[in-house]
Amino acid sequence: MTNPPVCNYEGSDYQSSFWDQGGREYEDRTEAIALQRLLPKHGRLMLELGAGAGRNTPRYLGFDRIFLLDYSRTQLEQAQQRLGSSGKYIYVAADVYRLPFNDGLFDAATMIRVLHHMADVPKALKQVRNVLQPSATFILEFANKLNLKAILRYLLGRQKWSPFTLEPVEFVELNFDFHPTSIKTLLKDLGMSIERTLTLSYFRVGVLKRIIPTGTLVFFDSLLQWTGALWQLSPSVFVKARRGNASGQFGAETMPALANLLLFFKCPDCGHSPLIDNKDHLECLSCKKKWEVRDGIYDFREPVKS
Ligand SMILES: [Zn+2]
Repeated sequence: MTNPPVCNYEGSDYQSSFWDQGGREYEDRTEAIALQRLLPKHGRLMLELGAGAGRNTPRYLGFDRIFLLDYSRTQLEQAQQRLGSSGKYIYVAADVYRLPFNDGLFDAATMIRVLHHMADVPKALKQVRNVLQPSATFILEFANKLNLKAILRYLLGRQKWSPFTLEPVEFVELNFDFHPTSIKTLLKDLGMSIERTLTLSYFRVGVLKRIIPTGTLVFFDSLLQWTGALWQLSPSVFVKARRGNASGQFGAETMPALANLLLFFKCPDCGHSPLIDNKDHLECLSCKKKWEVRDGIYDFREPVKS
C-alpha cells in the first residue's frame, strides 16, 4: 500500500525564516502559554511529532525523556544543536504514517503545526493513538478552517470554499485547514476523549501585530484561549485529548526501562521488535531491513541499501 505524500522540510530554514526573523513572536508566546495550560506536570516518555528544530521541546519540562520525531533530518540536526545530545532527547527521522515505535509506549504526545500538512489525517492519528499508553495525554494543534477571517471572506464572496462544511480545505499543496467538528469526531472514533480546547491566534492579523505591542496581544490572546471551551473561531486550535483505557501493550509497571532504548523501537515496515543494534544501524531480523543510526539520529525513513 502506498503512503500519503509527506510534506518535507529537508534543508529548510523554516526555524530562522518563519520563527526567528518572521515576526512570529506573538504566535510563539501564545503557544507557550497554551502548552503550559495543557501539559501534564510530570511524565516519563514524551513523543513530539513534527518536532522540527525543537522550538517547543524545552517546554516539556516535567518529562524524563523526549523523543523528537521529524521527517526531515536537517531539522533534527538543528534541534540537536539547540538541545544537545544528553540522552534526555532522542532524535528520530521517520514518517508519521509508519511510526517505528512499539504500541502503548508513551505517556504523552504532542503534534503542533503538523496536522496542517497531513493528507491522510485518520491514518496519521491512528498511528499516534497506537503508540500511546492507556490514559496518555495527547495535545493536538490544528489549523481551523472555521475562523473569523475565512467566514468573513466567504460571506463577502471573496473566497470560494465554505468554512462551514466538514471536509478539510487544501489552500496550498499539502497545507490543510480543518473543521473543529471533524477533528473532534475523529479523535472520538479513535477512543480518545477531549478534556480541554483552547483557541489561539485571534490577533494573527498583520496590521494588529505592527501597531499593538506583542505583550498586549499575548495578554488578550491568553484570555481568549479559554473561550475555546464554548466556540472555536480562531485560526489555531489546541486540543487536549486522553486515550481511553482500552488495550495497550505496556502497563505503567511493564514499560521498558528508560536505559534500554532498543525496546522502544520496532521495524516500521514489518512491525518486528526488538531490532538488533549494529552500531551504525538497527537491523530487523524478520524482514532483514537495516535502519541507519548516524550522529545520534535514528533514521527510519528508508532502509539502508546493502
Ligand atoms: Zn522488518
